[in-house]
Amino acid sequence: MARINPEFTDELKKYGAFDANACYNCGNCTAVCSLATEEESFPREMVRFSVLGLKENLETSLKPWLCYYCGECSETCPREANPGELMMSLRRWLIGRYDWTGLSGLFYKSLAVFLSAFVVLAAVVAWFGVYENFNLPVIMHYGHYFEMAAITVVFAFILLPNIIRMWWLTIYKPGVRVPVSVYFTAIGDLIVHMFTQKRTLGCEDNQLRWFEHFILVLGYLSLLFTTVVLDWFASQSLFVVVLGYVESAVIFVVTFDFVRRRIIKDQEISKHAHPSDWFFVIWLFLMGLSAFSVRLFIDLQMLDNNVWLYLVHLMILVQWALVIVPFGKWTHFLYRSFAMYFEKLIEYTRSTK
Ligand code: SF4
Ligand code: SF4
Repeated sequence: MARINPEFTDELKKYGAFDANACYNCGNCTAVCSLATEEESFPREMVRFSVLGLKENLETSLKPWLCYYCGECSETCPREANPGELMMSLRRWLIGRYDWTGLSGLFYKSLAVFLSAFVVLAAVVAWFGVYENFNLPVIMHYGHYFEMAAITVVFAFILLPNIIRMWWLTIYKPGVRVPVSVYFTAIGDLIVHMFTQKRTLGCEDNQLRWFEHFILVLGYLSLLFTTVVLDWFASQSLFVVVLGYVESAVIFVVTFDFVRRRIIKDQEISKHAHPSDWFFVIWLFLMGLSAFSVRLFIDLQMLDNNVWLYLVHLMILVQWALVIVPFGKWTHFLYRSFAMYFEKLIEYTRSTK
């Protein structure tokens, strides 16, 4: 039998801004949510579980990931309990539960710890620049090597074990038994959701937001490929050089718009940004901008006299790759895609009962 833990809402508040105790369980939020269904009913159920502190029910649920945060439920909640932000806070809390290192939860709960990690990594890169006597070819060589190593290490030692933990919590622990063949046949859903996030279109008035996210994901993944595999900064190919410019420009233009909207707070979803949301959009913007500038300085033959620019880019890259990707908001992209995949597996077992 589940144990009730009323202190849980206090813990959850560290992950976002909402007032779950204001909820009087009217169900309006679930009624207006265009993504909730009879089988997958939320957000009211998640609000109730949170108020009662039913941690086990929450950590084995995929429902927080089925919400794409349109903000409609928060706009119409008669008690201003902010159920949309509660769903967002639950997603952050779940990331902390999936993460075996415990760092995600620590970073979400403490801005001081998060900033300290950024400062330490910036200091390591600055020290490396001094250690190498600001020798640009050597620093760039190791910078490129770092990109390749970081992707492999972060995926193998952090993201993959965390996805397995998510599977264990949401599929294995609740007793969902899926035939092995279904894991393979449902892989298509994982890929489609990962690249398109098409469920966002189920929320009303979300077309522009979906389009921006779509081109941002494409721009980000293709820039990753262009810098890591095609070695953009060293490439002599006109096609690769232009491709990198276009991809990095897409990233900083789209993320600039994200930052602008968070500042003017023109939508319900921009009203309650957690520090991790700010870091995500600002660092993505800086990544695009600094990568674009480095390549421009190379083409103008000015980088040799401005090694600091590459070091700044490397600092941003290292902070992104070692903090934001494994422990910060970037992981939403991964866990949400896997949540859609696991949901497909659950749907299959439901339909065969
Ligand atoms: S609409 Fe507000 S008060 Fe009603 S159930 Fe949802 S969160 Fe609670
Ligand atoms: S934010 Fe939108 S998608 Fe999420 S629960 Fe509320 S109405 Fe549904």
